[in-house]
Amino acid sequence: MFLSDGCGAMIANMDVTVLGGGIGGLACACALAQRGARVRVLEQAPALQEVGAGIQISANGLAVLRALGLEPAFLARSTGNGAVELRQGQNGARLIRMAMDPGAFRFVHRADMIDILAEGARAAGVTVETGRRVAAVNLESSGARLDFADGTGETVPLLVAADGVRSVVRPVIDGVATPFFTGQVAWRALIPGTEGAPEARVYVGPGRHLVRYPLAGRGVINLVGVEERAEWAEETWHSPADPAQFRAAFAGFCDGVQRDLALVDQVHLWGLFRHRVAETWHRGQVALLGDAAHPTLPFMAQGANLALEDAWVLADCLAQRPVDQALPMYQEKRRARVARAIAAANDNARNYHLSKWWQVGPAHTALRMLDRVAPSAMVRKFDWLYRHDVTA
Ligand SMILES: Cc1cc2nc3c(=O)[nH]c(=O)nc-3n(C[C@H](O)[C@H](O)[C@H](O)COP(=O)(O)OP(=O)(O)OC[C@H]3O[C@@H](n4cnc5c(N)ncnc54)[C@H](O)[C@@H]3O)c2cc1C
Repeated sequence: MFLSDGCGAMIANMDVTVLGGGIGGLACACALAQRGARVRVLEQAPALQEVGAGIQISANGLAVLRALGLEPAFLARSTGNGAVELRQGQNGARLIRMAMDPGAFRFVHRADMIDILAEGARAAGVTVETGRRVAAVNLESSGARLDFADGTGETVPLLVAADGVRSVVRPVIDGVATPFFTGQVAWRALIPGTEGAPEARVYVGPGRHLVRYPLAGRGVINLVGVEERAEWAEETWHSPADPAQFRAAFAGFCDGVQRDLALVDQVHLWGLFRHRVAETWHRGQVALLGDAAHPTLPFMAQGANLALEDAWVLADCLAQRPVDQALPMYQEKRRARVARAIAAANDNARNYHLSKWWQVGPAHTALRMLDRVAPSAMVRKFDWLYRHDVTA
């Protein structure tokens, strides 16, 4: 589970501050502490918490959890995904069914994921300070100056910025970049239910699709509906919306979808924005990680998985090299892969939402043919992404 003796030599006993107690920050804190660093996580929320929603963890993210020694806890609290079925939204007819390896593709509640990582980090000696909102960051020769929202401040020798899509650190490292609204919003809800196979269904229709999968341990089903629309929505998980509007957005979809939507009593709306991948991931004694460096659209279900990969690679680089060499090495190892994954997610947005009749007909016919001859080809196409193991 941990590195062999001596592998963490460069980082042993170094003080590292991780900004952000999300999936990326906690994973990195855990990996660094397991290599002997003294690690502190600063989180703005009053407690480590997550929104009520599911995420999918694929083999590439699972490899990191395994290397951190967290696989047993993760397997106990996640559900294996046995297949992904694409169905026509309007009539529910199957287009293609892709068998998945349930050991390699798993669904988990975000709060369970945070618990598992936080327990792993604390067991490795990490301290987590909640209610610590950083308002501004400035680079100094001796590290990074943090100014907290409560008026206090301090300088830390090494900062890992895992503070998510609205990072206060990214502009200091990579300049200000303005994301653009993709014209898509994501509705997200949990409904009660345990029925159905442990698999994902994706109902596709013109300008919209709806993903449904069970979180068995919680007795709920996760729904994410993506809709193309001109009306802007905020880029946050925490924006409550009207269940009636969610139902209206998918009103033309089949009876099975309508039964699910009838059970929705709380829904959140997330505006989907395209961000460029940061050109520069580090400066001085500061590195960006996860969404702080590269927010992604959700269409390959990779944001959290890429954050886990970043966490492992950054800790590994810091264990092998002095900081001034480790941070460029980290960026070198990560940026091209992350950019490729995000480009694939951008492409997938288009594929789900073919809206013209002359696109929809041939595309659906091709999927039905593929379903008959080689249904696994669609998944194998992305082996470079899902089967990659940064810990190997
Ligand atoms: C609809 C949707 C579905 C998704 N589904 C999947 C999926 O199935 N699989 C997948 O891999 N990914 C998925 N993602 C993406 C995934 O949720 C993110 O990429 C991932 O959570 C990023 O982790 P992170 O640690 O980088 O950032 P975050 O999880 O955003 O964590 C950042 C943390 O930093 C804290 N913070 C922020 N600013 C400050 C500050 N100034 N001071 C102190 N603390 C601060 C925040 O409170 C937060 O706890 C999905 C995203 C969306 C929108």
